[in-house]
Amino acid sequence: MIKSILRWGSWPFLMVTCLMLFGVGMALDLPIIFFNLAYVYLALCLFFLERFMPHERAWLGSDGQLAQDLLHTLSSKGLVQGLLMFGGVIGLSNWLVPAAEASRGIWPHEWPIAAQVILGVVAGEFMLYWAHRLGHRWPPMWAFHAIHHSVKRLWIVNTGRFHFIDSLISIVMALGLLIWLGAPMEVVKWLSAVTAFIGLLTHCNVDMKFGPISWLFNTPELHRWHHSKDLREGDKNYGENVMLWDWVFRSYFNEDRRPPVDIGIKQPMPVPFRHQLLYPFRRNYYHSLKFKRMDKDPNVFY
Ligand SMILES: [Zn+2]
Repeated sequence: MIKSILRWGSWPFLMVTCLMLFGVGMALDLPIIFFNLAYVYLALCLFFLERFMPHERAWLGSDGQLAQDLLHTLSSKGLVQGLLMFGGVIGLSNWLVPAAEASRGIWPHEWPIAAQVILGVVAGEFMLYWAHRLGHRWPPMWAFHAIHHSVKRLWIVNTGRFHFIDSLISIVMALGLLIWLGAPMEVVKWLSAVTAFIGLLTHCNVDMKFGPISWLFNTPELHRWHHSKDLREGDKNYGENVMLWDWVFRSYFNEDRRPPVDIGIKQPMPVPFRHQLLYPFRRNYYHSLKFKRMDKDPNVFY
């Protein structure tokens, strides 16, 4: 009974409470503090839910990539998003706001802020969608994105496992469009908070049910298909927050069966963090090496 409530209720409850907390922070003009509060609250709830009702018990074991996941998170989310979206917003607004004003964009500033945020999420998603789709379809960009997909299990800690250049490309594309359209910084902050909350939820290893929520939003059930080795399932569901553009560009995928437990990529990926950072630039070299690789590591990978 309690698990059934948690299965259906966790995603909407956690999402709504995080948005409310962030909304309080925005109202009090303390967005960074309240964003971090909400993020820690969400991570803690999901950490306990992953142990109480995991989607895949096999994914609870160590994959030997904890340090790498955290270092990628620090370098991509911490450095890039932190500086660009929050920590540096005050400094960046010195040039972002004039740039937005100078763009004389068509942004509807007179709309209620909630409607502007929805517009910002949908418009920003257009760029996030295409950055992500290119990341799968264009080999030089796949070399960066492959680091995210090299994981053999999904859980909250590999949410931030992105090569920082991969993150930077998506952020610059989405933010660039919003600035060009003339969106206010308030909308940019909301978009970055929504992306962070949905991203953490999307990667969690919790046994949740979604129904129509998955028609609109990116959920763990959709994202588990996206991590499939079978490209008929993996080259789908590119949306980061909302699924609109997957419907429009015909890449939406969800079937009424269990997604594969054996996820990952076909190429070898080096184990050490520093080599993963270098991998996109020297992948032929890494593919030829015989040293410790994720596909040869007896500990877990491949
Ligand atoms: Zn992907």
